[in-house]
Order: sequence, then structure tokens, then C-alpha cells
Amino acid sequence: MDPDLASSKPWELLRRSLSRDRLAHGYLFFGDDLDSLEAGAEALAQTLNCSAPAERSPGGTPMAPCGRCANCERIAARNHADVTWVRPENKSRQISAEQTREVVRTITLKPMQGRHKMVIFAGADRMNTSAANIFLKTLEEPPAGSVLILLTTEPGRLLETILSRCQRVGFGVRPFRVGDEVARWVTDFARKAAPGSTGVLARYQLLGTLLESLGAARERIEEQCTAASPLAKYPDATPAQKEQWEDALTAAIEAEYRRRRGEYLAGLQAWLRDVWLKACGVTDQAAFFPTLETATEAVAARLRREQAQTNLENWEGTQRLLHTNVQEALALEVGLLRLHL
Ligand SMILES: [Zn+2]
Repeated sequence: MDPDLASSKPWELLRRSLSRDRLAHGYLFFGDDLDSLEAGAEALAQTLNCSAPAERSPGGTPMAPCGRCANCERIAARNHADVTWVRPENKSRQISAEQTREVVRTITLKPMQGRHKMVIFAGADRMNTSAANIFLKTLEEPPAGSVLILLTTEPGRLLETILSRCQRVGFGVRPFRVGDEVARWVTDFARKAAPGSTGVLARYQLLGTLLESLGAARERIEEQCTAASPLAKYPDATPAQKEQWEDALTAAIEAEYRRRRGEYLAGLQAWLRDVWLKACGVTDQAAFFPTLETATEAVAARLRREQAQTNLENWEGTQRLLHTNVQEALALEVGLLRLHL
């Protein structure tokens, strides 16, 4: 198990409840970084199913995995018969009722290799309503020995009834940082907005740079995902298998694109926060974009404090809206036209 994870606060919390022989049927791991959440779920699955745990509670509950036994290795390789991973799969990037029904059926069976039947939902906020209801029913009457783990970067999108039935473990929020690609776009955006030519044409130019950057990002993502797909490697696969891979590829591209788009929009949100702080005369908080100070000041000088704050609320609203099936270009257009710049 990763030493950073082993010494982390969330893992300490889990260890403490295991040391008291308290094993929940439902866990919710939340945090900014899905990879850390997956690592946490993997470690818990290994711990509970390990054949030679490195540590046990006085009551005999395993508290740390050996990392070397067949169970630990199979879990790390994601091919353990008793540990099922569920991810958003179909074109709508949701976890469907069928997927959920299927895994719920498997956990009513006896474990085959380990001690616990476990299901890990990576991207639990992607469960659609019927899936969430099937899941909820299982959580209310869990089969003996079963453990369900939900992983989400957006716990706010889960049903309250699900949240309240899980042991919640926070895996931390990473400090906000944008990649070079996003920083370049925010810089370009801020410099174009600074002169205050707030006519419709200027607005559409700002929208243009956003759509152009997103288009380029999507192309790169499509290339990367296609190159990583088994489709190109196994041309002789059966049509059914190919179709499954194609669906998985479409879902992967869409998920990655949405993540990247989220970074762009969060980048602009960060700059709008800089503008708001300036408009409020706050000086003791570091700007996200110190290099843009001139542009930030120019825009802040034109705005009333309330306008700067409305910007934050509106742009947040645009980001929330994009989680629904709204038409992207239209939502961005409306969002940008509403900003006070
Ligand atoms: Zn082991």
C-alpha cells in the first residue's frame, strides 16, 4: 500500500474504525482527486480480503493489507472475483439501473476468493435516479459481509438518503492550480477583457477564444483516448466486443473532455474571484493570477462590488448548468454575455 496513503488522515480514520471492529456496509469517499479515492478504495478492499493482513485489531479485524498475497494482487490488478468496480459506461456517461442491478445481484452470493463481496462505484454521482434507488434499497438491507464504496468528486450531487447511510471519509481538496493550457487561455481572456470594449462584438470574441480552446482540447483528447483504446490493437475482435469498446471509448472521451472543460471554466472562475477581491479592496489574499494584476485592476475599477459578486454567482451557475444535458455553446454564450466586465 502506498506509504503516503497509509500515513494520510483519511486512512487513519478508517484504520481507527477497523481497530474497533467497526466495519460499515456503505462508505462514501469524497475529494478532489478521483485517483486518490480509487487508491483508498483499493487499499480498503485489499485490507478486508487479504489472506495475511499485516495488522489486525484485538478483535481480529484486518487493519492493513500485506500487498503480496493472491487476493491483494488480484485486487490491485482489478480482477478479483469478489471486488467489482462500477463506472459510468454508456453514452450518457451515467451509471445505469441495469449496471447497478447486476452488481447488486452479485453481492448476494457468497465470496469466492476473499471474505467480503465488495462493489466500488467510481463516479457515484453519475448514478441515474433509478440506479440510485436500487442502490439505496441494497444499502438499507445489505447482504451479510458485503461492503459498498462510493467514490465521488461531487458529493453534493448524491441523494441525501444515500449520504446519510454511508460512513463518509474526506480525502482532501487539492490546492487550486490550473495547467498551462488553461492559464494561457485565462491570460488571453483577461487581457482581451481589460480595455473595457464591452460591445457585443468584443463579447463574441471572448466566447470565440473559449470555444476554440475547447475544440482544440477535445481533438487532443480524442486522439489520446483513441490511441489508448484496444480497438486499434485488436482488429480481429468480434463485432460485439468492438461495439463495447467503441461505447467505452465514446464514454472515456466525453468524461475526459468534461473534466478538461471544467478546468477551463474553473480557471475563469478563479480570475473572476481575483477581480471580485480587487473590487472589494481586499489586499491580504493572494491572487490566483498575480501576473494578470493590470488586467484584473482595470476590470475591477469599472465594477461595483455587487457586480463582481454577481459574476461569481453567474459563472458558477453556468458550470452547474453544464452538468445537465444543456447545449454547451448556448450555455457558454449566455454565461459570458451575462458577465460584467
Ligand atoms: Zn494480502
